[in-house]
Amino acid sequence: HADTAMYGAKEAGRNNFQFFVPEMNVRARERLMLENALRRAIERDELSLHYQPQLRADDGRLTGCEALVRWLHPEMGAVMPAQFIPVAEDSGLIVPLGEWVLRQACRQQAAWARAGLGGLMVAVNISALQFRRADFTGAVTRILAETGADPAWIELEITESALMQPSTELHERLVALGRMGLTLALDDFGTGYSSLAYLKRLPISRLKIDRSFVKDLPGDQEDAAVASATLSLGRDLGLEVVAEGVEQPEQFAWLQARGCAKMQGYLFARPMPADEFARWAAAHDPAAVGMLLATG
Ligand code: C2E
Ligand code: MG
Ligand code: MG
Ligand code: MG
Repeated sequence: HADTAMYGAKEAGRNNFQFFVPEMNVRARERLMLENALRRAIERDELSLHYQPQLRADDGRLTGCEALVRWLHPEMGAVMPAQFIPVAEDSGLIVPLGEWVLRQACRQQAAWARAGLGGLMVAVNISALQFRRADFTGAVTRILAETGADPAWIELEITESALMQPSTELHERLVALGRMGLTLALDDFGTGYSSLAYLKRLPISRLKIDRSFVKDLPGDQEDAAVASATLSLGRDLGLEVVAEGVEQPEQFAWLQARGCAKMQGYLFARPMPADEFARWAAAHDPAAVGMLLATG
């Protein structure tokens, strides 16, 4: 680590030397600390899933949720995915972590179905590294069998970046997952560089507009252009478009008017633990969602 830091500091110029080296060490040490804590977290049951509702834009009905991992460290408290997912990806821990997440989400789907809370699509984030492993389909098959989850109600969110270098193997993997009955969604859409020709051939059924393009709608012209283009692409290719990060009634109205099928965001609900989600779902009034448009 020290060598890399010195090299970096020299590259950055002599004047930065004093400042740069300690800074690098602190960051490297923090990362290592986080990595070790995360390794233990998986074994010690410090991880949990929260579920954020997804609603139909036209009638406000609840259609499903996205499972989002949460980490409650005994001393550090709540650690957010933005802090530990990159560490998990760099260290390879994302593979056992991702399997834990998928297993937990599948168990939840099966439990909700048994409890009569059926018809809910449970979306699970899959990291690029996880998806690109040769045994991914095998792991999914095993977890479905083990948990008794119905693949018809499990959706895999694969980031656009995971498909950056398309290969026959990855394409066939998507086809195999689709044949198993799973729904496939392209997450963080607009942040990568998918070729449109390739997108057309992908066996996916949904596009998720990244929150970064929703945040400044409808005022920001560039974001509006990206969101509009995604919606018309979805329409042309027969893909359902989901918007995430919807916080304002104006954003909801703008997206709905342009044919966005589904909404997810703080305007409707935050991610919640499973029991709270079930209570939220039972109390949910679709008509109240329409009222948001009327008042906004
Ligand atoms: P993502 O998959 O794009 O998930 C959406 C993120 O937007 C979530 O953040 C969610 O809480 C947040 N969000 C939803 N609506 C709003 C809103 O209205 N306003 C704001 N400010 N935020 C909103 P979260 O849970 O912190 O996760 C961040 C990212 O970490 C996720 O982005 C995903 O890339 C990754 N992640 C989370 N859980 C998992 C997981 O289980 N596995 C993997 N591989 N990645 C995960
Ligand atoms: Mg996601
Ligand atoms: Mg996303
Ligand atoms: Mg995102």
